[in-house]
Amino acid sequence: MKITLLHHTPLNICAHAIRTCWQSFDKSDDGGEKDLALIDRVGNKFKHASTLEHITYNFYIQGISRALLQELARHRIASLSVKSTRYTLKELKECDIIDYEKFLIFTGNEMVDSASKAALDNLQKVLKTGISNDIAKYCLPESYKTELTWTVNARSLQNFLHLRSSKDALWEIRNLANAAYEALPEEHKYLFEDHICDYSKE
Ligand SMILES: Cc1cc2nc3c(=O)[nH]c(=O)nc-3n(C[C@H](O)[C@H](O)[C@H](O)COP(=O)(O)OP(=O)(O)OC[C@H]3O[C@@H](n4cnc5c(N)ncnc54)[C@H](O)[C@@H]3O)c2cc1C
Repeated sequence: MKITLLHHTPLNICAHAIRTCWQSFDKSDDGGEKDLALIDRVGNKFKHASTLEHITYNFYIQGISRALLQELARHRIASLSVKSTRYTLKELKECDIIDYEKFLIFTGNEMVDSASKAALDNLQKVLKTGISNDIAKYCLPESYKTELTWTVNARSLQNFLHLRSSKDALWEIRNLANAAYEALPEEHKYLFEDHICDYSKE
């Protein structure tokens, strides 16, 4: 799994949005300590959380399974543009020797991982007969790798990190939650640290 933060909204935009409510622009310190404390106080402590929606993050997420993708897609307050199997299965059809690491997420369980490889072999056989991608894709294993551009605002990201860094979450989405947190700009992390499960405190 690889996560790249492509772009993010500077925090002073959120401070500006908050100050719009009270017209307190003269109290701003241009994104300094006063503004950062204001965002935390209003957005988190006062639960005026819609102000956090002015901060968005654009992530490029590569090398996740379609099993994880379907869980990530349940987070409705986000935008996803996903690599299409309809248009990209030819990369599997055209290879002579399958590089399984390139196409599959492995679990570490030998039996499950060989079943995934067998499913990939089968899919390639189907594709090589000339059956269209639109039909062949119905025998894709859930372990098949995909990638997407994911855009999410700070409020929704807090909810995502809270739910998906938990021990109750699927291991792969938990890894994604932790990696997304790590990819955030250092100066933004304070808005999220209470939403990340810290196992060292247990
Ligand atoms: C441990 C775990 C196990 C799960 N198991 C299952 C499972 O077995 N089966 C299954 O189907 N799903 C399962 N889910 C998915 C879960 O039900 C949610 O769909 C998913 O976590 C997205 O959460 P969300 O709705 O808060 O996020 P988002 O969709 O991003 O929504 C964010 C917030 O917006 C508000 N919101 C969004 N849409 C609405 C709406 N229509 N009405 C009112 N408020 C709204 C809510 O406050 C919500 O928290 C599981 C999730 C977890 C973490």
